[in-house]
Amino acid sequence: MAVFFRGSQNLLQKLKNHVSFANVSSRAMASKTPVGFIGLGNMGSHMAKNLLKHGYPVFASDIFPESCKEIQDLGAQVLDTPAEVADRADRIITMLPSSLNVIEVYTGLKGILKKVKKGSLLIDSSTIDPSVSKEMAREAEKMGAVFMDAPVSGGVGAASSGKLTFMVGGVEEEFTAVQELLTCMGTNVLYCGEVGTGQAAKICNNMLLAIGMIGTAETMNLGIRLGLDPKLLSKILNMSSGRCWSSDTYNPVPGVMEGVPSANNYQGGFGTTLMAKDLGLAQDAATNTKTAIPLGSVSHQIYRVMCAQGYAQKDFSSVFQFLREEENQ
Ligand code: NAD
Repeated sequence: MAVFFRGSQNLLQKLKNHVSFANVSSRAMASKTPVGFIGLGNMGSHMAKNLLKHGYPVFASDIFPESCKEIQDLGAQVLDTPAEVADRADRIITMLPSSLNVIEVYTGLKGILKKVKKGSLLIDSSTIDPSVSKEMAREAEKMGAVFMDAPVSGGVGAASSGKLTFMVGGVEEEFTAVQELLTCMGTNVLYCGEVGTGQAAKICNNMLLAIGMIGTAETMNLGIRLGLDPKLLSKILNMSSGRCWSSDTYNPVPGVMEGVPSANNYQGGFGTTLMAKDLGLAQDAATNTKTAIPLGSVSHQIYRVMCAQGYAQKDFSSVFQFLREEENQ
């Protein structure tokens, strides 16, 4: 009896694997069939454009239809709701601000899961709470669909040039199918483990990003107060051990670099609200795992204060401007 039971379990497992591989191969065969894209904001609009450039027809949807105007002009078809997108495409990418938006877009009255087709692949590239990714994966599974988390690193510039880094969590057998789409938008696509682990990697990265940005802003400000030319100081830092992404690619001081938010009154880019949200996720994760993150906690407080003081819509590198204004208080 025990042998029979074990044998049945093995057979069931093989069947399960077969079904999962069958899903992948049928989607892969239809590789240039339409892809749904929901959330055409600072990042999503560029990502969807890159899918179009690679020859994928795109069904786009955003709660603010005007966000879809540009992609529509480039040939995407715009639909009113996430449910309509799920009715037309069996591979969907979401790029939304926060956990609440993701819950709404997947499980809301006009959400993806209302119309999702069996075997669909749902890829969420928003930065959200890993526990919400796990919950969405469970809900998708009930409908016979697969949900993977694939948050990104790289900012608007990397989204535009198709050079994002994706951190992917979910069923490993689906990774090839996920890679096929994500390599149209990014140069690095890394498998992290079970669903939610992509978010874990992203939260850690953004905590370090915030700490690095605040550190760069403080350092640049001190240098300027000591009489150094900011361009020269940046050049020296970038040749020295203080170099980091915030100093060499996304410098927060106006006039040091072209083509970054600090050159454009901190418009566009990665909003202060989003950074405060990501640091909140890091803080929650640290509390749940009893992990000490003193600099992460201080960074969270700084970005929260900035949100309350009129910086919410500005790029997160505006912490430099915030420090300067604080000095005048
Ligand atoms: P964004 O606010 O510019 O864009 C989000 C889009 O989602 C908006 O167009 C909004 O209208 C749409 N949206 C919100 N709720 C919706 C709903 N219910 N239905 C349909 N559409 C809805 O944000 P973004 O900067 O593009 O960031 C998106 C995600 O990517 C966030 O989780 C952010 O943390 C992450 N991220 C951003 C950057 C960056 O540099 N901006 C970098 C890495 C990761």
